[in-house]
Amino acid sequence: MYQIGIDLGGTFIKAGVVDEQNKIVSKKMVESHVDADVEGLCTRMVQCAVDALTEAGVTMDEVGSIGVGVPGAVDAGRGVVVYCSNIGFRNTPLAGIISQKTGKPVYVQNDANVAAYGEVVAGAAKGYKDVIVVTLGTGVGGGIIIDGKIYSGFNSFGGELGHTVIVHDGEPCPCGRRGCLESYASATALIKQTRISMRNHTESRLWNICPDISKIDGKTAFDAMRAGSKAATEVVNQYINYLGCGLTNFINIFQPEILLIGGGISKEGETLLEPLRKILSVETYGSSMDAPKTKIGVCTLRNDAGTIGAANLHNLYESFITKG
Ligand SMILES: [Zn+2]
Repeated sequence: MYQIGIDLGGTFIKAGVVDEQNKIVSKKMVESHVDADVEGLCTRMVQCAVDALTEAGVTMDEVGSIGVGVPGAVDAGRGVVVYCSNIGFRNTPLAGIISQKTGKPVYVQNDANVAAYGEVVAGAAKGYKDVIVVTLGTGVGGGIIIDGKIYSGFNSFGGELGHTVIVHDGEPCPCGRRGCLESYASATALIKQTRISMRNHTESRLWNICPDISKIDGKTAFDAMRAGSKAATEVVNQYINYLGCGLTNFINIFQPEILLIGGGISKEGETLLEPLRKILSVETYGSSMDAPKTKIGVCTLRNDAGTIGAANLHNLYESFITKG
């Protein structure tokens, strides 16, 4: 039996056919056209899944279920997308709509939760039951897995780890608060911190790494640090300190077996992890006690985490929608 995992993004829909060993046997991608109506968007999602099936030489009869990751608040128990900021879903019964089009049980979850679950079933957190995943991209995303299940609170809005405050009355955040972790530890924040440093240090080697200030990315400060830039080293150290503060909070609340970092910045690997472990080994509650400690690592499935996680959602929820 195969499962289909669909990753709905603001720009692209990605659909993959996943086998029983959690290997993606085929995948397809089409543009989302989020400005289209809900019906049109759902039709495109199904078509993308059908195209992936055709490529794999698998028929719909061999598919057990379809899972969908959506960038918004999802009531997974009812298969309803409650709210989506950049897609026109408002209390949309997405699982029901796609189930009607395919005749399959359909499961829906928030995309960050789905990606975290992907790491648990087939990635860097495989074998662990209590897991936190923090994704450092345009924003700071979060996924909380407790006892092998996705935790998102009674109303599905939970798990927003990026919108916890680390600096009271600090930098403004798109969510409306000030001082959120997202405003200090996202790639967007790192780019801003790098830009400020370049303006303040016109002699810095940062300018050799990136002569065009509009082209700074999440790697610029790390690359300049490796090239020996003092200013870049300060930017990276400060960035890691902010991140360490947020991660310490999460460990103090959840004490997960493993905490994974994903997203573009996680590609820095040990350059990021080593100083983080140092901070956490001092800051986290119980760090001086002779007790098991949270492991820190990076996500390994990259772009496939959403597809594999979605394809496995059927493990977590009752089949509330069946054929027809
Ligand atoms: Zn926020």
